[in-house]
Amino acid sequence: MEHQKAIVYARENGLFEQLEKIYAQVPQCSGCIGCKACCSESVDTTYIEFLYVLNRYYPMYEDLASLPDGIRGRLLKFTLFELAIPQKCPFLNEEGRCEIYEARPLACRVYGTLSRSDYEANYEAVVRQNLEMGKVLQKENGIMPHRALMLRKIPYCEHVAVSAHVTPAMQTSWQNERINLDGKLYFEHLMSMKRLNGNLVGHFFTEDRILDKLPETLIPSLRISILEALQK
Ligand code: SF4
Ligand code: SF4
Repeated sequence: MEHQKAIVYARENGLFEQLEKIYAQVPQCSGCIGCKACCSESVDTTYIEFLYVLNRYYPMYEDLASLPDGIRGRLLKFTLFELAIPQKCPFLNEEGRCEIYEARPLACRVYGTLSRSDYEANYEAVVRQNLEMGKVLQKENGIMPHRALMLRKIPYCEHVAVSAHVTPAMQTSWQNERINLDGKLYFEHLMSMKRLNGNLVGHFFTEDRILDKLPETLIPSLRISILEALQK
């Protein structure tokens, strides 16, 4: 119900059209050979982007229980194991296809559009962020995610091409435009602060009613237990 109200507001106030205009600025890539080397994380996703996915692919979504078995299983597996074992994005299905391709977030659309040097510089920044997050997890839970996971790299794609590379500044501008749309939802009391800086998988586990039936800490503690067991 929470999402349904926000979806109705987004539809009635043209927020999805505004999001589509942002997406339309991203140049199309060509030449993908389907090697699956990308699609290896839960990508940065704003709330309006999450709603856009629900509106297009899961219009009856209320909580995890309302999702088809395949995606529900992959989401749970991803969230339980992501600190310990490299995971593919749960939306990459068994056939190696993105199940939400037409509504994929900006982060997926811009992959392959930077020059190699800009992409590598961005990777360095991501690693620094991961290492900082690892320190926070260690402080809060006493255990560090596997270092290989924090240093993990989605390689620069050698296959896809764009008519002209975009700049990091262009990417930042599109990212900010999406965040502005979230601001509209926030000021209408249709989005909680917990959804700021969200990621695609994380949105499914934020205030999800299926988890109301479980102790609040069950999923985080299961994740830590799995990590501990695998590090022994
Ligand atoms: S975009 Fe590149 S890395 Fe991703 S599946 Fe296609 S060829 Fe592989
Ligand atoms: S949402 Fe789709 S395109 Fe994006 S990482 Fe997942 S499978 Fe790949």
